[in-house]
Amino acid sequence: MSTLHQFVKDYLEEQESFFLDVSKFVYTHPETRFEEYKSSSYMADACEKAGFTVEKNTANIETAFVATYGSGSPVIGFLGEFDALAGLGQEPLATEQKPLHENKGNGHGCGHNLLGTGSFAAACAAKEYLIKNNLEGTIQFFGCPGEEGGSGKTFMTREGVFDHLDLAFCWHPSPTNTIMSLSSLANYQVYFEFKGTSSHAAISPHLGRSALDAVELMSSGVNYLREHVIPEARMHYAVTNTGGHSPNVVQANAEVLYLIRAPLVSQVDDIYKRVCKIAEGAALMTETEVTIRFDKACSNYIPNRSLERVLYESLEQIGAGTPSNEEKVFAKEIWESLRPDEKENYLDVSRGFGYEGDGSEFEGKYLSDEISPYIPSDGMLMGSTDVADVSWVVPTAQLSAATSTLGTPLHTWQMTTQGLSTFAHQGMFRAAGSMALAAIKALNEPSIVTEANEEFEKFIAKNPYTNPIPTHVQPSQLNERIS
Ligand SMILES: [Zn+2]
Repeated sequence: MSTLHQFVKDYLEEQESFFLDVSKFVYTHPETRFEEYKSSSYMADACEKAGFTVEKNTANIETAFVATYGSGSPVIGFLGEFDALAGLGQEPLATEQKPLHENKGNGHGCGHNLLGTGSFAAACAAKEYLIKNNLEGTIQFFGCPGEEGGSGKTFMTREGVFDHLDLAFCWHPSPTNTIMSLSSLANYQVYFEFKGTSSHAAISPHLGRSALDAVELMSSGVNYLREHVIPEARMHYAVTNTGGHSPNVVQANAEVLYLIRAPLVSQVDDIYKRVCKIAEGAALMTETEVTIRFDKACSNYIPNRSLERVLYESLEQIGAGTPSNEEKVFAKEIWESLRPDEKENYLDVSRGFGYEGDGSEFEGKYLSDEISPYIPSDGMLMGSTDVADVSWVVPTAQLSAATSTLGTPLHTWQMTTQGLSTFAHQGMFRAAGSMALAAIKALNEPSIVTEANEEFEKFIAKNPYTNPIPTHVQPSQLNERIS
């Protein structure tokens, strides 16, 4: 009789090429938020091939789906993503920036080809265990689109897609093997569209009312606001419509997209209301009109310590990898392509996860071959994730598995180029194995489910959840507003 972790490892090894094909397909078909038609359909087919029943169009999102196997309790969910980023198309396995303009220039700069496939592989391994041991329980894989700037899971949470789950697992590609025990920033993303009056900018400028002026004045207002918000808050913007390319036409239309982040949704909401006042002020000053269109939002992440401990123990049993010499040579070149401030920033992020060194051992090492100790942290990851909203409705645990060179920042060409490496795929299988093992333990030991839910209920009793996306807002594609 093999041990549980050996069962998981053997299964993933047997099925390796099946899962590698999924990861490669998603990588080579990079699609941005809510446009992941090819990736979603390929993964849904793979789920059917693996014996799951698939329901598509989940929460009325065309590229969302749920794959289910089994019946009864516990119901264990694995969260998968497969969306890419615009502008990060990059030749795979290159040691310098080589942009690819095919596929609209999109690229997997956040490793979601690995993320989606790893969670799917975990669901398959847990399902296999259920079958072999004739156990009661339900395994679900969630095809979650639009993580990048779309908050797909927050929309899905709003529609009750995860309400029935007993536990949920997710992971993220990264340079290290660790439990993601930090909270994350909540955010709102909102369009401000200004409408003015066009006119000849030389002959009759006095007849024009510039929407672009309104965008610029709004930006000035928000820049003054920065000093008077909490230090953890972040306000970023992108001008999504400048009103055209002619300086001799007063711009009648212009639009700016704001992303406002803070540790709690209530703090984001306060800042958002102040940003709206600034937008209205800019419209008043320029005699234009502003339309405010809410795009998406997500909450802060709620760690579940008892489930994290089970996931950590599972990660330790699956074990860290040993990078080959060839992988180290490739990683050395990636390491050398990073700027000193990128390496320094990586150390700061690592310290948030409990790392105490000065980074000197990274020099000459390049790839992680260890598992970071589990240190439950009250700290904050200065980024956002839509897994957060799932964590408000079901006990959720996440890990990160080493798939890239130490120091690699997310959303860079370096991250994209490493997304098909053998090291990345080893990390993907490590994440899959750890999540599957944790789920199998929960299938065998009901106390795991009970304890995680008791901790969750205790928190929720004091902190009731409201989904941050207003009910009338629907998911929008990246380029929908940019014409
Ligand atoms: Zn990501």
